[in-house]
Amino acid sequence: MPSPEHRLNTLLQRIETAARNAGRTDRVSLLAVSKTQSADVIRALAAAGQRAFGENYVQEAGAKQDALRELPLEWHLIGHLQSNKAREAAQQFDWVQSVDRPGVIEALARHRPDTRAPLNVLIQVNIDAEGSKSGCQPEQIEELAARIAHHDRLCLRGLMAIPDPEHDRQHRASSFARMQQAFARLRSAYATVDTLSMGMSADFEQAIAHGATLVRIGTALFGPRE
Ligand SMILES: *Cc1c(COP(=O)(O)O)cnc(C)c1O
Repeated sequence: MPSPEHRLNTLLQRIETAARNAGRTDRVSLLAVSKTQSADVIRALAAAGQRAFGENYVQEAGAKQDALRELPLEWHLIGHLQSNKAREAAQQFDWVQSVDRPGVIEALARHRPDTRAPLNVLIQVNIDAEGSKSGCQPEQIEELAARIAHHDRLCLRGLMAIPDPEHDRQHRASSFARMQQAFARLRSAYATVDTLSMGMSADFEQAIAHGATLVRIGTALFGPRE
């Protein structure tokens, strides 16, 4: 197994190549998706220079955040957020990418501690209208954005999507393209918006070609999950 540093550098190269091939001149960042990975694995990747880590579960993340408190890491919640976990999420994370309904917005704003910077939030969009329980419909973006912007404990940073993995490449291109358009609209309305989170191990190059500014990658970085 190659070292964490080697795997990280190989992946960063692939991201850079994809950005160059797409004619991108802005920055594309890597979120290391560390769900099911131990605090020690995260520590090794942090030592290699990675700062931003994504977790799906508030409780699983909490244990690792406690163990790694001395490191200057940036934690993103990327899993579906249950309302009864919103308070802990607002306290533990730097970003919540899975904001998809008014109740969660209100709860995150209410519970974000005054001692911390405003919580960065992305609106998760259910771009393929799946039967999935996560993500708002594209028509709801505007209303949710206005609600988020109303709270000074929250900072609206952009959009997140997980296209249906069952679809083929061509269908995925259309999902990514619709996200890119929605992102452009949102960015022209809000000065704080700078992040389009889409693309995972299997499709990040395609996402970058459609304007992703943040790719969320687990398997291609850590190997297959147990
Ligand atoms: C697990 C997960 C990822 C990473 O998926 P890989 O295919 O392992 O790169 C990205 N985003 C979300 C929301 C996830 O749940």
